[in-house]
Amino acid sequence: MASSPKRPKQPQPSTHVRVAVVGSGFGGLGAGVRLRRAGITDFVILERADSVGGTWRDNSYPGCACDVPSHLYSFSFAPNPEWPRSFSRQPDIRAYLERVADTFGLRPHLRFNTEVTELRWDQQAAHWRVTTTAGSWTADAVVSAAGPLADPQIPDIPGLADFPGKVFHSSRWDHDFDLTGKRVAMVGTGASAAQIVPSIQPQVAKLTVFQRTPAWVLPRADREISAAEKWLHAAIPATGKLRRATLFALRELQVDAFVRRPGALKLVQRLAVRNLEQAVADPQLRAKLTPDYRIGCKRILLSNAYYPALAAPNAEVVAAGLAEVRGSTLVDADGGEHEADAIVFGTGFHVTDMPIGERVFGIDGRSLAQEWKGGMEALRGSTVHGFPNLFFVIGPNTGLGNNSMILMIESQLNYLVDALTTLSAIGATAIQPTARAQRRWNLELQHRMSRTVWTTGGCKSWYLEADGKNTVLWPGSTTSFRRATRRVDLAEYEIIKRPVPVATVSQEVPA
Ligand SMILES: Cc1cc2nc3c(=O)[nH]c(=O)nc-3n(C[C@H](O)[C@H](O)[C@H](O)COP(=O)(O)OP(=O)(O)OC[C@H]3O[C@@H](n4cnc5c(N)ncnc54)[C@H](O)[C@@H]3O)c2cc1C
Repeated sequence: MASSPKRPKQPQPSTHVRVAVVGSGFGGLGAGVRLRRAGITDFVILERADSVGGTWRDNSYPGCACDVPSHLYSFSFAPNPEWPRSFSRQPDIRAYLERVADTFGLRPHLRFNTEVTELRWDQQAAHWRVTTTAGSWTADAVVSAAGPLADPQIPDIPGLADFPGKVFHSSRWDHDFDLTGKRVAMVGTGASAAQIVPSIQPQVAKLTVFQRTPAWVLPRADREISAAEKWLHAAIPATGKLRRATLFALRELQVDAFVRRPGALKLVQRLAVRNLEQAVADPQLRAKLTPDYRIGCKRILLSNAYYPALAAPNAEVVAAGLAEVRGSTLVDADGGEHEADAIVFGTGFHVTDMPIGERVFGIDGRSLAQEWKGGMEALRGSTVHGFPNLFFVIGPNTGLGNNSMILMIESQLNYLVDALTTLSAIGATAIQPTARAQRRWNLELQHRMSRTVWTTGGCKSWYLEADGKNTVLWPGSTTSFRRATRRVDLAEYEIIKRPVPVATVSQEVPA
């Protein structure tokens, strides 16, 4: 059979969409729902993994659960009367997000195994060129919901590459590796470690926990949601709303102490000291676990099981931190040696160096990473000067210390939808914040930040840039952020009109 002549490879035409959303966690799925509700159906959700869920797909470590009550840590537009626990576990949260994708008709928009490798603003056409591992798109607007805690960070420890045992990060748990009877080193003592440690301690032969800084730990009021409560929330949805409103109010009331009056946290710190004293009898271990900074400065951990697990006979807390790996020997910063068969890193994520920043190129071809060399900055946590029609969901300074991130996500989605509908209403192609508006917003924000416990509490946390600037957290209540993102104020923006009409190749998803 004659073979057909080889044709030179033609560049594939890009499909044009109105909006390209990056990521399918709470942020990306929420964006999909809100776009559809606003009548915008011409969009794709580009996801590098093979399913939705983001954080709740990737973090499947033993004991993984939310630390904000489920009835608040969920979308306001998708209440779930079936939450099984007050702090539900990862499989239930992941299943919830799968249901959101189904219920709100997001499946036709989702493109899995599609990693965005470049987002480049085309000044001529006034749209974004979106390059991925599975094709390219052009888009009028891009929503970056690539996640604040999506790319694991493993510290550069000398000798780690030659460790003969198993090594993995908490967010990439290796379920094929059985920890039973093994000597396991847990590096890090943050929120993930506090859930992992009590889950694996009974199973392993030896658990060595490498701690740089101890966390303040408060008891967690976790319990099963009774069948009667579930029935009530399903039969009378107002009861679920009331529960959510109560949880919300309790957390909003705490904000003032974090952002304006850190001294008011003294009482909470006393509760945490008592919690430690009750759980840990050994004075030496207690001393290792007592923080030397004010409560709230680093994320407060909620756990009833963490201290008892650390006090168990097969557990050891190494307060000097991990300095070097020599074969199967882990050497702490004081020179102490510890044998291990496996190392689990609970060392967090690339946060202040948001990885998507390396892949976004705005006006004049400048990358977002270059733009943010001095620290991440945006207007209202959402838009960046020089990067028209790029909208962040969980952008700079939108993180929370003590409340549900879904509240912030929904505020940013209000802002996004208002921006897109405003663009249509005024016949504009794109908007970008003025440099002045962005500067003013950040000056005011950092002024407020200077009084917060995150700045004054005497700790070094993952919220801070190397120079100590906090570019991660929102220094206010979620209500004030909701107000700040209710509407786009065009006085803060430059309006861009497309110079020449651009032909649309095809519409991906019909209305
Ligand atoms: C273990 C853990 C527990 C947490 N618990 C809580 C809690 O109790 N309460 C709370 O408020 N917050 C909690 N958080 C914070 C949590 O990250 C947010 O609440 C929320 O889930 C973030 O959603 P997101 O959609 O913005 O990001 P993610 O859920 O991280 O989703 C981002 C998605 O973008 C995809 N992506 C990234 N880059 C690309 C690319 N280049 N191309 C294509 N796709 C890409 C990722 O694969 C991912 O699916 C927790 C975080 C962790 C890690």
